[in-house]
Amino acid sequence: MSILVQKFGGSSTGTAARREQVVQHILEAKASGHECVAVVSAMGRGGDPYATDSLLQLVGPENNQMPARETDLLMSCGEIIAAVVLTGHLLKAGHRARAFTGGQAGMITDGAHGNARIVEVKPERIKQALRLGFIPVVAGFQGETIDGDVTTLGRGSGDTSAVALGIALGADMVEIYTDVDGILTADPRVEPNARRLDTVTYREIVEMAHLGAKVIHPRAIEIAMEGHMPLRIRATGSTSLGTLVQDGLGGSVEIKSDRLVTGIAHVCDMVQVQLEAGDSFQASDLALLVFQSLAQAGISLDMIYVSPQRIAFIMEQRWAENARALLADFPVEVHVQPNVAKVSAVGAGMRGVPGVMAQVVAALQRAGVSILQTTDSHANISCLVNEADVEVAVQALHCQFALGQER
Ligand code: ADP
Ligand code: MG
Repeated sequence: MSILVQKFGGSSTGTAARREQVVQHILEAKASGHECVAVVSAMGRGGDPYATDSLLQLVGPENNQMPARETDLLMSCGEIIAAVVLTGHLLKAGHRARAFTGGQAGMITDGAHGNARIVEVKPERIKQALRLGFIPVVAGFQGETIDGDVTTLGRGSGDTSAVALGIALGADMVEIYTDVDGILTADPRVEPNARRLDTVTYREIVEMAHLGAKVIHPRAIEIAMEGHMPLRIRATGSTSLGTLVQDGLGGSVEIKSDRLVTGIAHVCDMVQVQLEAGDSFQASDLALLVFQSLAQAGISLDMIYVSPQRIAFIMEQRWAENARALLADFPVEVHVQPNVAKVSAVGAGMRGVPGVMAQVVAALQRAGVSILQTTDSHANISCLVNEADVEVAVQALHCQFALGQER
């Protein structure tokens, strides 16, 4: 029999009405002949009572004294509660269901609390539950070390749990249910003309996910790509089939070759740091010391630029204060620019195609958006802009590459 893993995000588990829709999706899949495994995220978002952020509030703001091990234990509760509550809905509807923590479902991780990586999945208990006719409901976003310590996999990584479990179970497909009808050409909260992409390759989407399209976690796509696991991203409560993600090798659905620009991604709450190398300091020596110091503090950098005169990079806002203190030790001028955002045109098909950068610059210039810094790879061009310009910048690029038009 074919196994289907269905992952339901926080927006899908947040209210009783939504959870009833979740039950319907599970029952419909069962009725069409699948064995179903549900993977859930904590119920709701932000200040909702059992959402991850609310649990964190119980022990105080970020950077508190709570050790990472205990913070993980606390955060893991949100998904466990969601798994039990959804199990309750299924039982009430007259179905056999059983809730599992990540550890009980066999998700073994390394010990990097807060950002653990799955090292192995031992799905025997889930297989057994399926054999006995239960619908397993698994807490996503969490695992256990071999010593039995509870870990979490990083924000948004319930998707990763679902894909890893799907591969371990030999599932036919992993479905990611969320509050949007698939992967769109841009975040619909920022670009109302964003269109759904019906089929995409892993290559196209892994890039978009890394560059901020939070509809799916990048690690989930990477694991799916390695395991050739097809994914479907779709909206809870809708019959639309959303977006199918698989590799371009064909299969049951024909996939067009990668597009020049697949979509526009953006990420806010970034800070730009620039250091001017003075006479007393060669930029290369300075760069080494700066990067070592920030690395030791666990601060990860992006959009890194080094020239003989200048070093520039960006980081998440939450690291800024710490970084500022560390950089104060260097006898050079340090400029910290808060409230910047990275906007990226993404497309695996832009490799080697001339003129994409010219189009990006033209579109932003026409829209009156200043470019503070750029980086690019074979599959994206990213521009740093002021956060106040994000919407205009995303819309300008979306329009430039005609992403709102039917293709
Ligand atoms: P969940 O709680 O279900 O995991 P997320 O908040 O993680 O949901 O992801 C869904 C959100 O991702 C959407 O509400 C949407 O605003 C955002 N998003 C960002 N970029 C995109 C995109 N390219 N396509 C669709 N949604 C996107
Ligand atoms: Mg998510």
